[in-house]
Amino acid sequence: MPYRAPAADYQFILDHVAGFAEVTATDRFAEATPDVTSAILSEAAKMCDDILAPLQRAGDLHPARLENGVVRTSPGYADGYKAIAEGGWIGMSASEAYGGMGLPFALSIAVNDLMSGACLSLQLKPLMAQGQIEALEHHASDAIKDLYLPKLISGEWSGTMNLTEPQAGSDVGALSTKAEPNGDGTYAITGQKIYISWGDNDFTRNVCHLVLARLPDSVPGTKGISLFLVPKYIPDADGNPGKQNDLRVVSLEHKMGLHGSPTAVMEYSGATGWMVGPQNGGMAAMFTMMNNARVGVSTQGIGAAEGAYQHALAYALDRKQGRVGGTGTIVEHADVRRMLAEMKAETFAARSISAMCAVALDMTTATGDATYRARAALLTPIAKSFGSDTGIKVASMGIQVHGGMGVIEETGAAQYARDVRVTAIYEGTNGIQAMDLVGRKMMDGGEAAQALLDEIQSGADAAKGTFPDLAEAVWQAAADMSEATDWLVARSDMQDRFAGAVPYQSAFARVLGAHAHLRAAMQNDPARQRLARFYITRLLPEVTGLLAHVRTGATDLMAVTPEDLAVA
Ligand SMILES: Cc1cc2nc3c(=O)[nH]c(=O)nc-3n(C[C@H](O)[C@H](O)[C@H](O)COP(=O)(O)OP(=O)(O)OC[C@H]3O[C@@H](n4cnc5c(N)ncnc54)[C@H](O)[C@@H]3O)c2cc1C
Repeated sequence: MPYRAPAADYQFILDHVAGFAEVTATDRFAEATPDVTSAILSEAAKMCDDILAPLQRAGDLHPARLENGVVRTSPGYADGYKAIAEGGWIGMSASEAYGGMGLPFALSIAVNDLMSGACLSLQLKPLMAQGQIEALEHHASDAIKDLYLPKLISGEWSGTMNLTEPQAGSDVGALSTKAEPNGDGTYAITGQKIYISWGDNDFTRNVCHLVLARLPDSVPGTKGISLFLVPKYIPDADGNPGKQNDLRVVSLEHKMGLHGSPTAVMEYSGATGWMVGPQNGGMAAMFTMMNNARVGVSTQGIGAAEGAYQHALAYALDRKQGRVGGTGTIVEHADVRRMLAEMKAETFAARSISAMCAVALDMTTATGDATYRARAALLTPIAKSFGSDTGIKVASMGIQVHGGMGVIEETGAAQYARDVRVTAIYEGTNGIQAMDLVGRKMMDGGEAAQALLDEIQSGADAAKGTFPDLAEAVWQAAADMSEATDWLVARSDMQDRFAGAVPYQSAFARVLGAHAHLRAAMQNDPARQRLARFYITRLLPEVTGLLAHVRTGATDLMAVTPEDLAVA
């Protein structure tokens, strides 16, 4: 079944749910007029439908492989990447001074969502470059910016991020890769990095690695980490790829999915690197890339959900089983209808949350206002986790809708589930995101969260005349969330917060999703109104159970000992 990129859904969300008009009303983003936005979405959709989607199966069936030290990519990926680069889609939000388009991040994530539904493993490549571009724009010297940014933005060179080491996964502060000064302003980087997405390829002229490492005598933990730009080929005097740097791909991982993306073990053996940002300020600089990539990963989940949904719907409208009226297909069974409605409603909710987060980021860029900054910071872990969780849930339901055919690889339903699974793990596991939400993001005493919940209640108040029952349910869920937030910030023992962090994060996403559906329902579109009713009456009530979980605290949970867990 051919994938159709959901450009119209995105346009609707930008226009009626996420408040994109506020972004385009700023001087900074005034050029993103409705005409520009609609042209971007339809052009990107065309590329996704015609060029990227046909590559999805090829990547799965013919994984990237390592041949005599050279990474060979999946068939067609070089052409797919060329289309992405030539379309200007990598540098959409990058600075115009270096060849980017300077467009809002909200449009960039929209295009990433459409591309992810078409071919997730290829989309991961430009996503890595986008994060690197933003990190360099903010933290690199002018010389590095002038040399690298135009090539990264055009796609001639590509980018990676190197944090993880065998002993340093979620705990990045445990990393041990070394950086020793060469005495000429460069550094010799030595160490091993694992799980490096798109660590190498056979179609860009250079691969630029952003590597976290420690200088001699640096303090332990995250405060002793610096960031280095380490190119595969060291640029010559003219800025062209010159001598091969002292780094190599040791091996590629054999993964359950995302086969088209080469996930590399990288060895750095005194490779030449240039420091980006201040000495020992590497984590702050890398966070620019990671925050960009976190919202990007949310769109990966949403894109995969979209693809899985479209597949399942097409199958359901064709498959006949059991005696039913109407179309005579399984879509007439109440349980199949439930699954399809849930898949569609969840995807819409997750897409709306990511778009709201991107709008807050754009408003931060345009105005520098601390309120928007706090909102974007609050929404980032929710968007990352809910987007990826939704991808996993919807892809799994997609298999269920197919029945037995769901586990037969030829249908393509299983690939979505295999490919999207890692999105809840990389860029900080969803558990770590939830801890960030209830920890660092609540250091304001819950102010940003409460401000957002107030807005949701105002939206519900405005909808009461039209949809009294739905508006009341959304208003009450926001009130319950607000009370749970007060409870949470009053806990002095962080373990009490962490024990319920994931249910808190999920409940917040549910409330935001209901808010988005209610806004959509106000647009006088009967189909969206029916979907909103489905979400608010059937899925929103989960908030009650989730918040009961939150308020239970840590004592009973931690009383379950490792020995208890081991009892047969
Ligand atoms: C396909 C793939 C691509 C990747 N791409 C990249 C890349 O391009 N660059 C890069 O640098 N890395 C990359 N990664 C690494 C990825 O970011 C890590 O796998 C992830 O951060 C988790 O680290 P870990 O695997 O060591 O798991 P661990 O950190 O060992 O975690 C195991 C479990 O323990 C939990 N846990 C750990 N610490 C805590 C804590 N303090 N509190 C509560 N729970 C905790 C985790 O949530 C998880 O459930 C990739 C990984 C994969 C699988």
